[in-house]
Amino acid sequence: MTPQTLRNYIDGRWTASEAAEAAEVHNPANGEVIARAPLSTAAEVGAAVAAAGAAFQEWRETPPLVRARAMFRLKGLMEGRFEELARVITTEHGKIIDEARGEVRRAIENVEVACGLPALLMGYNAEDIAVGIDEEAVLQPVGVYACIAPFNFPAMVPFWFLPYAIGCGNTYIVKPSEVCPMSQNLLFELLDEADLPPGVVNLVNGARGTAEALLAHPGVAGVSFVGSTPVARQIYATAAAHGKRAQCQAGAKNCLVVMPDADLARAVPNLLTSAFGTAGQRCLAGSLVLAVGGAYEPLKERLVAAAARLKVGDGLDESVQMGPLATRQARERVLGYIERGLAEGARLLLDGRGVTMPGYPDGYFVGPTIFDQVRPEMAIAREEIFGPVLGIIPVANLDEALEIINGSPYGNAASLFTDSGRAAREFRYRARCGNIGINIGIAAPIATFPFAGMKNSFFGDLHGQGRDAIQFFTDRKVVISRWF
Ligand code: NAD
Repeated sequence: MTPQTLRNYIDGRWTASEAAEAAEVHNPANGEVIARAPLSTAAEVGAAVAAAGAAFQEWRETPPLVRARAMFRLKGLMEGRFEELARVITTEHGKIIDEARGEVRRAIENVEVACGLPALLMGYNAEDIAVGIDEEAVLQPVGVYACIAPFNFPAMVPFWFLPYAIGCGNTYIVKPSEVCPMSQNLLFELLDEADLPPGVVNLVNGARGTAEALLAHPGVAGVSFVGSTPVARQIYATAAAHGKRAQCQAGAKNCLVVMPDADLARAVPNLLTSAFGTAGQRCLAGSLVLAVGGAYEPLKERLVAAAARLKVGDGLDESVQMGPLATRQARERVLGYIERGLAEGARLLLDGRGVTMPGYPDGYFVGPTIFDQVRPEMAIAREEIFGPVLGIIPVANLDEALEIINGSPYGNAASLFTDSGRAAREFRYRARCGNIGINIGIAAPIATFPFAGMKNSFFGDLHGQGRDAIQFFTDRKVVISRWF
């Protein structure tokens, strides 16, 4: 079958891009090209911004309850195509089908929260701020917003933003990742069916150049970016230079601390999912285990034994527990880090190189890999590998673990496994990371909470999801009134 070239969705219509170039989309399980994402031009970005800009006035005047009804329709449509969405995610990304289902569920949860926006969009007021004078703060939508999305949660991440943006009365443009654009394209088919006025939501496929055109366009009021730290930092600066508000969620290097009093039988499955779920390609993935004191020996043995049993393969096979990496380049990068760990003197306890899948000779597989005797200054301890590579660092106590966590340039997530409330309190209080897990391996905030992040894992002040989203997608206007 000839892979289809994806189309853009602009002003309520699907249109073929005129771009001369396109990015190939691969099924990472077998290396086949399954689609092409056009690298849309600045003119096409301009058309999307014009459509979103033209739709804004009428959409902001649409009562929030009427806007929310579109969210209810969208939820129904997403539930109706749930399994198909999950299968598309697995096919374009490689993650196992159950993880893809989890991703679709999380996307739907954000739509569900946006269904309640009419109750959340209320301002506040005070009578008699001076004699006979009242004051109120109202929340108003801002205009056209855009999302520049990463490959690793291709369906969900734009839904950390889009439902809130349009629920608040703004109009929207998504530029999906060129690596995994297909599920977002399918979601836009559902947005089309949800009967939104033309121009309220728009999809422009592309890569860096398309993102840069969005950032430079004077018609875009704000940008939500999720991706790697170097790009996040650059986008934050560019957005500011163009007078846009921006929230840029970035890379990570997350630690999982295991205390000697932790229940290892319960902790180990959590650590495994954290490190090897989605083949380590989650911004919340734990990639370092800090084993405190006596936890070290028994934990090491159990982790290696359990990780060695994980079934690797095509994510569409329900019995598989870990899929391939998303791209050939990602596989090469991860293999490079394994070589680097060896060169730095870490001890390889479980080697995922050379994993072969019968029937899938061209898949981008790397098996679960565990290094022991990792030191905090090693590249494999400091840099985001974004693959199924877990390092173990033995530490003497919780203070030493916190020193490593707080010494990292990243601050996305950290988890503690313990039976001690005192240790847990100390950890949550002192760890400079946005998402903290206590006996939880992946501290993923649900849609009613902000998806947090600190240090080089986040640039901005208002995060995606939760109440932060409402603040990001509105202006606060203060009205002071006196009637004679
Ligand atoms: P990436 O930075 O390579 O790309 C992200 C997006 O930016 C893509 O749409 C891409 O086309 C675009 N882009 C790339 N270079 C650009 C440039 N110079 N200017 C403008 N746009 C550009 O990230 P990725 O590889 O797609 O995603 C993986 C990264 O995302 C990891 O670092 C991961 O930790 C991070 N991530 C963070 C979170 C979070 O919430 N903190 C969530 C998911 C993923």
